[in-house]
Amino acid sequence: MKVTVLSGGVGGARFTRGLLALLAERLPDGAGGTSAQVTVIANTGDDMWLHGVRVCPDLDTLMYTLGGAVHEEQGWGRRDESGRVSADLAAYGLGWEWFTLGDLDLATHLARTELLRDGLPLSAVTQRLAQRWRPGVRLLPMSDQEVETHVELEDGRLIHFEEWWVRHRAGVPARAFVQVGLEHAEPAPGVLDALRQADVVVVPPSNPVVSVGTILAVPGVRDALRDTAAPVVGVSPVVGGAPVRGMADACLAAIGVRTDAAAVARHYGRRAEAGVLDAWLVDTADEGAVPGLRAEGWTAAAAPTLMTDVPATSAIAAEALRLVDRLP
Ligand code: GDP
Ligand code: CA
Repeated sequence: MKVTVLSGGVGGARFTRGLLALLAERLPDGAGGTSAQVTVIANTGDDMWLHGVRVCPDLDTLMYTLGGAVHEEQGWGRRDESGRVSADLAAYGLGWEWFTLGDLDLATHLARTELLRDGLPLSAVTQRLAQRWRPGVRLLPMSDQEVETHVELEDGRLIHFEEWWVRHRAGVPARAFVQVGLEHAEPAPGVLDALRQADVVVVPPSNPVVSVGTILAVPGVRDALRDTAAPVVGVSPVVGGAPVRGMADACLAAIGVRTDAAAVARHYGRRAEAGVLDAWLVDTADEGAVPGLRAEGWTAAAAPTLMTDVPATSAIAAEALRLVDRLP
């Protein structure tokens, strides 16, 4: 069984951890893992150069979460982390004082940068870094080319997504998101095949605009998703009219989509029309949206979708896969 996941950082990583636990139960490999092959295609639109090193927030959140090294409460970064280097850099007045890199995390960025400087593409570098963390999935960046999401503010200024998200807490109204470098980007090796050869594709509760939306914007990805024989099932990141964590509502507002589980489904669209999904799982808080979605032709259901711990998340993955069995 081949499962492909299109992921951002925290939401996608937590979901994938639950999915792996479920698959380890259903399709055990005899060594505590699963015989299923899970490929995660990660958003790299949040990446940036900072202090001369390449930072890939979503790839790292996936690697640390699936590798058992994540700072659990924070959701990203390393546990048992310290910030002496960032504090000392700030004393030189360098970098972004609002975006600190942990000391252990910096080792990852240094290692990545060294390998990139040796000429390896990001996909090969990611594979190399993942050898240490053994995430239990094949981890692929969406592209080997640098694509960076910038936010167009009301006054026309463009700022890096992380500046808008972390420094301004998405509190400055955005007019649009621009993927700088997209015109020179192609899917990383393995990305299109992972979509075409999958038995099922899952869109986890990741940010639909700046995580999944960015992956879908890479030339060829949307078409591969529309054309694959695999069913494509999504889980809503919006519960009861609000994002569970983070400010995805500000991203949705910027592109004119209501922060509402059904509106996000319609934004992705059904593959039977011009969209990318076949089925949509909403939270029980949004059960009221299910009849309307079904009337429009969606295969939809409601279930608890709060990823409070691994067993709860594994149950969400099970509900998502159950939807696949209900497809016409
Ligand atoms: P990021 O790159 O770290 O922002 O992470 P993602 O894009 O993968 O996921 C962010 C999205 O995950 C946000 O829009 C949240 O609403 C959603 N999310 C986080 N935790 C949960 C949860 O427990 N349940 C659901 N349904 N969505 C969640
Ligand atoms: Ca992210």
